Amino acid sequence: MPSRSRRSDCSRRALGHKPAGFVIAIDGPAGAGKTTTARLVARKLGFRHLDTGAMYRAVTFKCIEDGLDICDSSALSRLLRGTEVTVRWDGTTSRVMLDGRDVSHKIRQHRVSALVSQVSAVPEVRKAMVEEQRLAAAGQDVVCEGRDIGSVVFPDAQLKVYLDCDLDERARRRQQELYGERLKVSRQDVISNLQQRDRIDSSRSVSPLKRVPGAVLVDTTHLTIEDQVAVICELARRRM
Ligand code: C5P
Repeated sequence: MPSRSRRSDCSRRALGHKPAGFVIAIDGPAGAGKTTTARLVARKLGFRHLDTGAMYRAVTFKCIEDGLDICDSSALSRLLRGTEVTVRWDGTTSRVMLDGRDVSHKIRQHRVSALVSQVSAVPEVRKAMVEEQRLAAAGQDVVCEGRDIGSVVFPDAQLKVYLDCDLDERARRRQQELYGERLKVSRQDVISNLQQRDRIDSSRSVSPLKRVPGAVLVDTTHLTIEDQVAVICELARRRM
């Protein structure tokens, strides 16, 4: 991601991983409700919401558009060098921009979900995305969600939450979400995708998904969305 790297080298060095604001890091497996929860928590607290999964999805979307074989690491490196994934703030929510195009909706397609964990396991991809995430959150009060937020992106976050949920319930929610977006995917495909992503995300060598010490476990299996938002807002208020 060349032009942007040159422009912001100094600010990246100055930032490290210490944004000036209050950071709530939410990590957890696919479909645990991180995005909806993070969005609502951010709205309630007047924070911004940074969806880091969207950035890995954007790189994957470009690989698919370009017909790239994601196992070809040199082709992936080349693609990455000519790619700009950035965040544009739209009120408190983040839009993901791919080479200047807003791809926030397109990246939700099942074909992207099917490949994103393989792409996000590539160290070079992670390095570039983490830099952008720190840059986007700089100076903000932010609810940042993903897989490595409390462990790698913002290890000094004031509040770390690990959001978990039973597989069956996650599949039910994900399928409903896909229906809402008029994307029809069978229940079996949804379950296989969640299992495959969890396996790759938690076993990769760089920044695997894990519950870090200090992260509060919130199991959402039997919670309503209002309940889980209230729990996290209360935890945050106690630490502010
Ligand atoms: O959050 P979402 O399910 O949209 O993330 C898509 C994928 O992006 C995850 O399955 C994971 O492979 C990757 N991801 C990651 N690190 C993050 C956020 C997402 O590896 N911080």
